[in-house]
This record gives sequence, C-alpha cells and structure tokens, in this order.
Amino acid sequence: MRQGRGKRNAGQATLPVGATPRVPVLLPLPLAGAYDYAVPRGTALAPGDLVVVPLNGRALYGVVWDNDPDAPAVAESRLKPVAEKLGDVPPMTDSLRRFVDWVAAYTLSPPGAVLRMAMSAPSALEPPAAKAGWALALPGSNQPPAAARMTPERARVLAALADGAVLAGPALAERAGVSSGVVRGLADAGLIRPALLPPTPLFAPPDPDHPGPALGPEQDASAAALRESVARRRFGVTLLTGVTGSGKTEVYLDAVAECLRQDRQALVLLPEIALSAQWLDRFVARFGVRPALWHSEVGSRVRRDTWRAVAEGAATVVVGARSALFLPFPDLGLVVVDEEHETAFKQEDGVVYNARDMAVVRARLNEAACVLVSATPSLETLTNAETGRYAALHLPRRHGGATLPAVSAIDLRATPPERGRFIAPPLIAAVTETMARGEQAMLFLNRRGYAPLTLCRTCGHRLRCPNCTAWLVEHRAQRRLQCHHCGHAEPTPPECPECGHANTLAAVGPGVERVLEEATILWPEARVLVMASDSIPGPAAAAAAARQIQDREVDLIIGTQIVAKGWHFPHLTLVGVVDADLGLAGGDLRAAERTVQLLHQVAGRAGRAEAPGTVLLQTFSPEHPVMQALVGGDLDAFMREEAAMRRPGHWPPFGRLAALIVSSEEEREAERVARDLGLEAPRGIDGVEVLGPAPAPLAMLRGRHRRRLLLKTRRDIAVQPILREWLAKVEPPSSVRVQVDVDPVSFL
Ligand code: ADP
Ligand code: ZN
Repeated sequence: MRQGRGKRNAGQATLPVGATPRVPVLLPLPLAGAYDYAVPRGTALAPGDLVVVPLNGRALYGVVWDNDPDAPAVAESRLKPVAEKLGDVPPMTDSLRRFVDWVAAYTLSPPGAVLRMAMSAPSALEPPAAKAGWALALPGSNQPPAAARMTPERARVLAALADGAVLAGPALAERAGVSSGVVRGLADAGLIRPALLPPTPLFAPPDPDHPGPALGPEQDASAAALRESVARRRFGVTLLTGVTGSGKTEVYLDAVAECLRQDRQALVLLPEIALSAQWLDRFVARFGVRPALWHSEVGSRVRRDTWRAVAEGAATVVVGARSALFLPFPDLGLVVVDEEHETAFKQEDGVVYNARDMAVVRARLNEAACVLVSATPSLETLTNAETGRYAALHLPRRHGGATLPAVSAIDLRATPPERGRFIAPPLIAAVTETMARGEQAMLFLNRRGYAPLTLCRTCGHRLRCPNCTAWLVEHRAQRRLQCHHCGHAEPTPPECPECGHANTLAAVGPGVERVLEEATILWPEARVLVMASDSIPGPAAAAAAARQIQDREVDLIIGTQIVAKGWHFPHLTLVGVVDADLGLAGGDLRAAERTVQLLHQVAGRAGRAEAPGTVLLQTFSPEHPVMQALVGGDLDAFMREEAAMRRPGHWPPFGRLAALIVSSEEEREAERVARDLGLEAPRGIDGVEVLGPAPAPLAMLRGRHRRRLLLKTRRDIAVQPILREWLAKVEPPSSVRVQVDVDPVSFL
C-alpha cells in the first residue's frame, strides 16, 4: 500500500478556519485518482500548474488537478507539502486536463495512466540547458585594447563577433578561419567572454502562403469547405473521402494552411508516421519547411524539444502517431486523421483507446475542426456521415486525369499455380508483360517471413510458440523461427524436435520471403525490392526504398501491408495480390470490411500517373462479396450490405461492444476469475447482453492464459456505468489481470 495516499477534500471553501490550504495533484501513475498535497505558505497554485511532490520518499512530477467535490478528505496530519512549482513551463491547459479525464472515464483507465501519456517527455519540464558561446568582452567594440597582442587571425575572430553576435566556439573558429586555439587565446586575454547562445528556433513556422500546387476545381471546392470549417473556430467533424490518388492530402493541407492563418496549431495523425517519407516531402512542397514530428522513433532530445515547442506554441504543425493527441497544444484549431479506417489507430496495451475516436473528442474540447480522411472509410464513420453528425466531402476523380485501375480476379481453382508455387500463370504473364513495357509491378502478400507454418512430414508435428497459441513463422534469411505475437525466436532446428528425423520439416504456405524466392526463379533479371517491416525498419529505410522505386531502380516490389498506404509510385502499373482471401479467415466482425479496405488501398497504388493500372486478385472464391466489391469497384454498395448485416443484431456501429480480457500465468486463476465475472454479469437489462466467458482465440499470449467476455449493448446504452458496476463485484487476485477494451477492434 502506498503511504500518504490522499483522499481528497470537498474543496477549500468548506475547510475549517485555519486549516492548511491543499490541492489535488494528479501523478502520472496508475493510481485511482489525484492525491491531496498541502500548499506551502507563499505559493499560489492553480489547476494545471506543474509541480514536484513527494511520494514514498521519491520526488515526482505531477499536475495540480481540478477539485472533485465528491472526493473524501484526507486527514490534515497526513498531508505532505508540494515541494516545488515549475515556473518555467506553461501550465497544462483546461482542455487537456478535461481530455485526460474524459479518456480515463471512457476507457475505464486510471486518470494518472492517461496523464502519463500527456507527460511523455518529462525532461521537457526542466528548463532547457543554455548553450554557451562567445561574445566580445567590450560590447560594441571590436577594437582591442592597445595592450593586447593583435594578429590578423585574432582580428578576424573579433570581426566575426562585431554587432553583438554570440557564436559557439566551433562556429566562431570556422567563421573566422582560425583554429580553436586562437579563440581560447582571445578568451585568456580577456578580449572575448562566455555568453549564452540565443535559442535556435527548432521549428521554423510553416508558411501558409508558400506557393503550393494549384488545386483542381473539385479539390478546390472541398478545400474551401474545409478552410471554412477551420475558420469557424468551432468544433465540427468532416469526412473527406475520395478515390485513391484524388489528392485528399493536398486538400487537407489547405485546411492546415487556414489553421495557421487563424494563428492556431494543427495536428495531423498518420497511421505509419515513421514510414511517411513521401508525405513529408509533400508537406515541404506545400509549406516550405518540415513539420514537427511525434512518434515512438523520435529520439529523446527531439522529443523533449518538440513537447516544449508545442507547449509554448512554437511548433505550429505536428504530424504524429496516435500518442501525439496528448501533446500540450495551447490552442489546437485542427485535427486531421488520415486513413481514419486504419486499425493502427487503436492502442491495444496500457490505456486501450482508439486515436481516431479520441481525436474527435480532443477537437470538441478545443473547439477545433476535425477532418477524417480515407478512400475507404470505416462503417462507423460512414454511418456518422449518413446521420448528419459529420459533414462529408468527396473527390470523385484521380488528380491529373489518371484513371482508376481495372481490377479482376484470378480464380485459383481454374488456374492454379504449379505445385509448391504461389503465383498463378495469369499473374506470371501480367508481371512479365508489365516489366517488358518498362513499367513496375508489385506483388502484395500481407505476411512477413518465409512460411507461416512448419511441419514434420514424418510425424505431423507443427512448430509452435512456447508462449502463445500460435505457429512459429520461418524467417529463412535469418535461419530462424519467430513468433509474430510475442517476438520469441529460435534457430530453425535441423531435425524434427518431436520425432528426431532429419530433413523432414516442410514449409507450409507463403510469406513475402517465399514469394521473393519464386520471383527470383521466374524473373532472374528483375531488380526486386522487398518491403516488409523486417527489411524497412524505420524512416530512413522507407525513404530510401521510395526513392529507389521513384527513380526506377526497381522493377518488382514485393511487400506486406506497409506498401498499401499512401505511397505514390508513378511508374507502378500492376498490382498482384498473392492471397486475397487471407484476411477473411477467422470470423472477426470486421474481417470483410477490413479486407476490402486493405486490398482497395493496395490496388490504389497502381496506375497513378499516365499509364493505366491493372490489379489482379488471386482468390479461391471470386464470388465472395469482398472480391465482387473490389472487381466491380462499388465499395458503397458493399458497405451498405455490411450495414444491413450488422444493424439487426445491434453490432457496431449500430450497437456498442466492450471486451473484458482476463489473463494470468495460472490457467486455473484466469478460468476462475472469468467464471466469477460470468456469474456476476449484468442480466435482465433490456438491450444488454453478455457473451462468454470463453477461451480467447489467442488462448495463450506471452505466457498468459486468456479468457474473454464481451458486453454488447444497444447504441443508446453507455457501456461504462455497466462495466464499472460489474467490475466492482469481482476482486481478482494480483496474479490475474482484467483488461477492459471499450469498442474492441481486435477479438483475438
Ligand atoms: P490520395 O491521398 O487521395 O490518394 P494524394 O493526395 O496522394 O491522393 O495525391 C495523389 C498524387 O497527385 C500525389 O502525388 C499528389 O502530389 C498529386 N496531386 C494531387 N493534387 C494535386 C494538385 N492539385 N497539383 C499537383 N499535384 C497534385
Ligand atoms: Zn509467442
């Protein structure tokens, strides 16, 4: 138990005369709520102030929170004083504090766990270290006193510092063309003195009036509507749809420009920001400078500088991953969520939240415009647009007269690949012809590694992860087997670990490495590039790959879902989907919707310039509605069908879901808690239903046994109060974790 645990008082107004003034302080820790601390004499503290407080003998950063009149008071004798108020950093805004509370309440997370995301660069709270440089000892004069020994080199140094300049040692030596010894000599002689360098502006302001590409008439109409929504300076959500290549990015960048003219900050969320080299180039083309970046691969120093620049309003446009939603914008005027349908916006660990949905909330709390962008919007967002909660804009044509690719299916039952191969003859022919024309082709398979399953031909043993309910995936290039769930890896064994026979292990099914192997046999002359997260680990590799493709140093691209998003490769005219049925297995609520979205995005990479594009889907069921929708190009009809299937059973978005995932290293414990939750499940409420408990499809993950329960309610019934009441009835032992997932995206 934590000592000093403070129950809060009912507000200072009700304190007895003479009592110590106190404030609630929220700490970035998963505690139940804020703790009370005494306000030291002579210190004025207001909600939002950043403070240092003691907890269990440690000094921690925290934020003065808002008084909760319902919180019980802690005894005055147990109050500890606030140790320090940080004067150098702007207080946390009202709207961000409300956002933290809102996300915590919606996701049933401890508010401190959410606050932690809003304080993710603690070093930014310390004053920035001043950097030292040199200035003239006698300001306004570069004439040395007569006594000092003067050389031409020394004179050049003094001249470089004329007009009150302050320069860092190396820069000064370089500017004057002297060695660092000369600079030191002048310092020793007292002719120059140490001085603080002026802070370098890290984030040059993007210029909204920088000449960017001229918009076409349809683009211009949508851009005007978006600009207007930003200029209103009020909350509102707009869905921006349009075919792939229609210029949605250029259009919403115009909304960013309007936001800058309004003197407010803009945030753009991208699902794979670390890989978005081309996106950044386009931003620079539109605004003349790079935006501030925020994602997990940003180094700690840049993180600190960015957090602070955002808090001080100096960084005006931030492009980031979902965690950028928790940055301390003092005046956020626009939030754009690009590829809003992407499941990458859902955070599955810690605080489980969907950044797309929380972006709408943050925009509302900031009186900001929100723009959701996608060629294949989620059914959730489409439904909101249909009911009029969101405004909708649509770009019907590709920019520059490019046509949409022609999509057709290859029936693998009619024209199967050769035994042990995965590319069927019609696709082989199409790739060969495309490359013969000097154009580029892409083979898409959403699976990393060589083969998803390895089995022994003698005894039938299958190689599985020791920690998860999952097969090990062979990565042949590295001679290793990997679990794609927990990261477990082991060398590929020379013989079957079960029966001991040598040379009996067989690879079953393809991954991109295996497609590469096949491509190398089929097209030995082709220059092939594999794009998967193993081979493209970060921004630099992604930028290099994109450049190689643009410069036509590559004939054939083989990739996983990282090739699906956003890329614009003008010479790419053929996209072949190796296994279009892959995402349909598993029976997930949104499996069909997601497959259509992913394959449509991949297809959208083809034929984005003058030469028309072709897309070939290899499938065992060309008659499946997903294939029909892609071939016919009628996604609207497909989504209407989806809606018609989900509506009667109150499945999202026509009802609400929340999952409880019970997990423990002890299977019996997980089982027991899951059963208790099942017994205490809400019953007899109209429009409320509980499914489970049942073993999760991933019955074991990272060594923990997992059970799932699913709460399903009508759309007009909020799940949070039901969940709170339900969870309060079962107290799991510390060895069991019960994770709450409101609006689940994954059902594994
Ligand atoms: P979407 O996001 O809708 O798929 P993009 O915004 O990526 O489409 O645009 C496709 C390509 O067309 C990009 O290379 C983009 O730079 C270019 N483009 C779009 N609109 C214009 C325009 N008005 N002027 C010049 N280039 C444009
Ligand atoms: Zn595993």
